Amino acid sequence: MEKIVRIEPPDDRRVTQWVAQLGQAYPDLVQISDIGHSLLGRRIYSLQIGDMHAPVLYCGGVHGREWITTLLMLYFAEDVLSACRRRHRICDMDMNKLLCSRGLLIVPALNPDGVEISINGADQPGLADYLGEDLWRHCRSREFCRRWKANARGVDINRNFDAAWDDMRAIAMDSGICGPQAAGWTGAYPESEPETCAIVALCGRVRFRHVVAFHSQGEEIYWNYRDFTPPKSHLMARVLSASSGYPLREPSHSASSAGLKDWFMEKYHAPAFTIEIGTGECPLSLGQFPFLYNRLREMLVLGAAI
Ligand SMILES: [Zn+2]
Repeated sequence: MEKIVRIEPPDDRRVTQWVAQLGQAYPDLVQISDIGHSLLGRRIYSLQIGDMHAPVLYCGGVHGREWITTLLMLYFAEDVLSACRRRHRICDMDMNKLLCSRGLLIVPALNPDGVEISINGADQPGLADYLGEDLWRHCRSREFCRRWKANARGVDINRNFDAAWDDMRAIAMDSGICGPQAAGWTGAYPESEPETCAIVALCGRVRFRHVVAFHSQGEEIYWNYRDFTPPKSHLMARVLSASSGYPLREPSHSASSAGLKDWFMEKYHAPAFTIEIGTGECPLSLGQFPFLYNRLREMLVLGAAI
């Protein structure tokens, strides 16, 4: 069977097409849904695979220019679905057996508007209305758009969660980020953005065992958050590190807050990780994707199994 998810930039058109095709090809194995909509009305897709009793959440595409993580999520989803159908093992693990008792919920692009801006530019209906005049003027530059991280209001989703948000806002202000930007702005208040609210609501509905947020780049794993890190987080992080070769990192007390990982640990007292994939300048080149995927494949399976 021909592959559905291709190694191509995962803009909204392709993601929508691939997700629909995965649903059609594997109707017995995957449940396609959405967890809400972005500011510009794009669907924030979710793919549920396996037993949904206590699943793991994998989240990509939090930052626009890090869209290689969206491709990673969908490529992995197809890999797992294909292995289940054909009764193949991945890295010597029986995926059917594993998914009988373990579920995986994948959100390939939490920030589909940001991904779209980075891949296809700012020429999108409605975007000019949300961005101030200054920021909109910058968006005429294709290079400026390519490096876009925020959502369509110029809010950095990973600085918009209700976890020491004031601290992160103070850090942003100190570095001159006092309003909407391509990167780094916390938003007007915690959970001000529909994308943040969508995943907060999802975590309220589904009791996840743990959360893994994928970013790029840096080849490193963040696993702790202030005094909220559960005891088992370190062991789990070491498993992820051993299988990927990515070292563990501990940010200083103040450097990390208001992110999905931080918020999930504080709110649910359960492990959460941020994994920075790949090396180079974002957006990473698709040329490194096959290498990247082979390197991370075992970690992706283990992250859903532990
Ligand atoms: Zn990021």
